[in-house]
Amino acid sequence: MASKTKKIVARYWGYLLIPVLFLGWWFRFNETAPLVLGGLSSLAVLYALFRAPVPCAATTREGEFCRHNAKGLLRGCYLKQHKWQNLKMLVRRSSWGNLGRTVFRSVAGSAAAATLFGAAISAAATLIGPVLGGG
Ligand SMILES: [Zn+2]
Repeated sequence: MASKTKKIVARYWGYLLIPVLFLGWWFRFNETAPLVLGGLSSLAVLYALFRAPVPCAATTREGEFCRHNAKGLLRGCYLKQHKWQNLKMLVRRSSWGNLGRTVFRSVAGSAAAATLFGAAISAAATLIGPVLGGG
């Protein structure tokens, strides 16, 4: 039981950052501790890109979606070829729609994409000010 919980936390810890970020904004950490909030936001971005359990966005030679699970939106499944395919899709803008369709086809992918989007905005909003010295 305890080890099962640990496994779930190990897989989904990045999503635990979301309520933390939310509370951080709620209590105006962006004003009092922007680097803490920015750091947590960046962590959530990295989690979505490299750790979150999502479906592999690659397509097979038969034109079907790969059914394997991948870790992170940037990485494909364990097949080396698919890792490259995912990266290439991000580089070629014309295939973004394709990538989006694949990612949003599953709940896990949508959650990871939403996390990436929200956390990236949060990171930018909290870090750009202090880094530029304007805040
Ligand atoms: Zn794959």
